[in-house]
Amino acid sequence: MADQSTQHIGVIGAGVIGICCALNLQRAGFAVTLYDENGLAQGCSKGNAGHFATEQVFPLAHASVLKKLPSMLLNPLGPLRIDWRYAIKALPWFWLFLKNMNNNTYTANSLALKALNQHAISAYDQLLSNYNLDYLITKKGSLLTFEKTPLEQINSLLESYQAHGVNVELLNAERVQQLEPNLASTITHALLFNDVAHSVDPHLFCVTLAEQFIALGGQFCHQKVTAIEQAEHGYTLVGEQQQFAADKVIIAAGAWSKSLIKPLGYKIPLDTERGYHCMLASNYGLSRPVASAERSFIMTPMSQGLRIAGTVEFAGTQRKMNNKRALALLPHAKAMLKKSATSLHAQNTWMGCRPSLPDSLPVIGEAPFHPGIFFAFGHQHLGLTQGAVTGELITSLCLKRPTKIDIKPYCISRFSTQAACSSPIPHAQ
Ligand SMILES: Cc1cc2nc3c(=O)[nH]c(=O)nc-3n(C[C@H](O)[C@H](O)[C@H](O)COP(=O)(O)OP(=O)(O)OC[C@H]3O[C@@H](n4cnc5c(N)ncnc54)[C@H](O)[C@@H]3O)c2cc1C
Repeated sequence: MADQSTQHIGVIGAGVIGICCALNLQRAGFAVTLYDENGLAQGCSKGNAGHFATEQVFPLAHASVLKKLPSMLLNPLGPLRIDWRYAIKALPWFWLFLKNMNNNTYTANSLALKALNQHAISAYDQLLSNYNLDYLITKKGSLLTFEKTPLEQINSLLESYQAHGVNVELLNAERVQQLEPNLASTITHALLFNDVAHSVDPHLFCVTLAEQFIALGGQFCHQKVTAIEQAEHGYTLVGEQQQFAADKVIIAAGAWSKSLIKPLGYKIPLDTERGYHCMLASNYGLSRPVASAERSFIMTPMSQGLRIAGTVEFAGTQRKMNNKRALALLPHAKAMLKKSATSLHAQNTWMGCRPSLPDSLPVIGEAPFHPGIFFAFGHQHLGLTQGAVTGELITSLCLKRPTKIDIKPYCISRFSTQAACSSPIPHAQ
């Protein structure tokens, strides 16, 4: 076996994806440096809803969205908003989003999501148990609740999940109350996803993993990487203050990955679906994540209170957050909780840039024209969920070993006719 310790890998981006890649690569024996211009987990991974949402195997580009789209867009504080100043820039993304609604494409994308999600929790179990950090994940399942949806429709959704092998059961109002007595009695039904987990502090989750990486000799460099240049052996990472040599490079810069790889000749329709959260001082007695199908948001009990999160906003990475969108989640939480929660107010609010591609799949794989550069970005609504499994896949690729699943669906060449997707190593199954 080659000695990995003589190979140096630079991981750009210290969000959940970069951190999980760094830890996995370090464990495989590589010398790893993690680069981030903003510190550890200060991007989208800082304030997500903490839901290891393995049940989410349905891509967002589904024909049913078209019906809801006009009413959603007319409500400036509703679940979806496109900033009119950003509309032209978002057009290519939406065009491809529409194309992904095609039945065959939708089915293929769904299978690819399922392939990642079905290994998501076991990959974390493996990663965390290496360092006795299993306590970082709480396994109590999650609820998807309904207030008005007809039972027939809920049953058909239940069947779709079951057809995808998701462990799910339908609960009536009484069983919902038994499980979560602090939810409002207006909830008529819920789907209980048994194999789902949550984090009570997603930021601390990332920082704890990164600190583990550093304690074991991993390097963290608080610096922006402005360019990646080919060198005689490997690559040069051009930092704002210094240059760094690397044999291999992992691009895990979330929503900012597009500008890093463009100078290398890779054009991708990566955009950001900005999302918001409001933090409430109490968790109102909830014990697991509770999402609302009709209100399109989620409430997760955390160590510092209840996090209510959701919404999608197309406005790019530069524009300031719109606090009204975060606060618009409050009335929904109020309606979903027992009367005792009528006085709830936000302790703080937050906005994060989900890195999203129009087919709801990440880009994972080696750069077709730059051997030794690997892509690990675009995890949209599921970056926390898919962090550990992405770290495993990237490590297998760097070791030139078979991957756990076929990575072809995540190859960058799905967006570019020039880039051939080379998959030289067969996957393990
Ligand atoms: C409201 C909300 C709720 C969510 N809830 C969930 C959930 O419950 N479950 C789930 O699975 N997912 C959830 N997500 C999605 C999840 O948070 C993201 O998919 C995930 O955080 C993306 O991780 P990342 O590491 O790719 O990106 P990021 O966390 O954004 O990290 C990228 C990092 O790269 C750094 N960077 C960028 N460019 C450079 C450069 N040139 N040089 C150096 N550093 C650079 C940035 O500073 C940043 O720290 C949610 C997202 C939002 C907004």
